Parts: sequence; structure tokens; C-alpha cells
Amino acid sequence: MYKSNSNNALNLDLIEEIPLITSWEEVESLPNFKEKIDPKRVEIVDLVAPYDLRPFKKCSLSGCGTKHGDGFVAEGSDGSLFKLGGTCGQNFFPEKYQLLKNSLTQRFNEQVVRNEIIVAHADAALRMDKLHRVLMREFDSTPLRDWYRRFNKLISTGFEVEIMERIRIRAHQGRPIISISREVSDERMDRREKEIYEVSGLDKEYVSEDVHIISGLNAVKNYKKLHPGKLQKMLVECDEFQSIDPRFLNQDRLKYWLRWCASFDMKLSQLLEVATDCSRFYSNDNVIALRRYKRYL
Ligand SMILES: [Zn+2]
Repeated sequence: MYKSNSNNALNLDLIEEIPLITSWEEVESLPNFKEKIDPKRVEIVDLVAPYDLRPFKKCSLSGCGTKHGDGFVAEGSDGSLFKLGGTCGQNFFPEKYQLLKNSLTQRFNEQVVRNEIIVAHADAALRMDKLHRVLMREFDSTPLRDWYRRFNKLISTGFEVEIMERIRIRAHQGRPIISISREVSDERMDRREKEIYEVSGLDKEYVSEDVHIISGLNAVKNYKKLHPGKLQKMLVECDEFQSIDPRFLNQDRLKYWLRWCASFDMKLSQLLEVATDCSRFYSNDNVIALRRYKRYL
């Protein structure tokens, strides 16, 4: 079996049962490679590796008049290896080609998935380390992993129930600005109020003023992402990922871990975002302002 020139800089134990072809030179320097074969005399017995290369080139079939980019390194009944363009395979060897192509494509795709997990798995310990560092990171002198309890306590006991309900509604509506609107007669307006009136275009009898922007309001709907059970689950999954051996997992499990890896970094940045919002909402200034302006929520 032909062995590709691996550009595997990290020296990982990648699976290369089906070689990854990256240039025409690689194809043409294969042992037993034949530039021309006669499809009337030589049958295909196997497909060895897919390729998709530029510039397009005619394949090895003597009757080929088409330049192809994609095709397969094929093995002939005479033991030769040759280039078989996609459309030529279909035209010259219709029955066998499709079966061999399906089988090789499936195995090749599986190999790609397995190798992606092998690469990701090499960083498994780093992922765990990163997660631990995020959980211990302090926001307002409190580690992220303790924010669920702290925040939950504030919103369960820090405000009257109906006030908290109004804050919740605002969080879901994305309305952090608290405004006060009040009736004033023209002569009683001070300079600031007159300015506001002119800018707002409100009815002359009313003046509206933004008195507070609720900090970290999103935390009210998102803080449950910091639930200890969820954090624990991330740790357990990270641990499990470290312990797998990608060479022996079936395709379903490989695909599961591929999805898990893709979502992991996103989840980490979400945790940071939510903890930041929690600490901003929790700040003294914010809590005092919410209590002061509770009538206007
Ligand atoms: Zn061809």
C-alpha cells in the first residue's frame, strides 16, 4: 500500500489507510503507476484513494478526451495504478465503478472524521485545563463557579416579588433603560427638563428622562447556565473526552465527540459572558438604582 508524505507536523497517530492525495506528483510517482491504460484490456479491481486536484488533467484511460479535477487512483487487473476521472469511471466501468466508489467514499469520510477527533483529542488535557481556569476566574472577587448561588440569592430575596417579575420581563424584552415620565408645567421646567422636552418631542405637559440603564440585565435570563449541575456536566464530559481512544470508537461516537468539541469553546465563552453580566447586575450602584426607581420599572 502506498504511504502518503504525511505533513503531520504534530506527529499525531493519524489514520492513513486511505492516502490523502494533495498533488498530481504524488499520484504520478506511485509504484506501478501507468500514465496510459487501455480500458478494453484492463478492468478496475479497486479504488485506492480519491483526489480533487488542479489544474484539470486527462486521466489514464487511453480513450479519455476529458480533463478532470476529481477522480480516483484506481488499481487495474494488471496490477497497475492509474488515474481514473470521475466521469470516465462512470462511462467505462459503469457497474463496478459505482460500488467501489460508494465503498471508498464512505471509508474515506469515516477516516476524515476519525482523524479530526485524533487531532482534537491531542488537546483534550488543554481543554480540561482551560475549563478549570474559567471556573476559577473571579468576577467581583467571586469565582465563576460560585456565581449561580450568589446571583440566585440576590434575585430570590433581594427585591419584592412583583418588582423582580418586572425586571424579568424587561430582561426578556431587552429593555434596560428606566425612564421617568412626569407632568410639568412650562414655567416650572428647569433648564435640563426643557432640553429633554425639546429633544423628546413629547406632549408639552410631559417630560421623560432616562434615569438608569440596568447593568448586566441579560444575567436575569441567562444565569442558569452557571448552574452547578451544568458546570459539573461539562467537567465530566471533558474528563470522558480525555479518556477516549479515537482509534477504536465507532462512527456514531466519533461524530458525537466532533459535535461536542465544536460546542465546547462556544460554551466556555458563554460562561464568561454570563458571569460578567451577573457581576455587573450585582454591583451596588445597579442594585441601589433598581430599588430607587422600582416604581418606574
Ligand atoms: Zn478521463
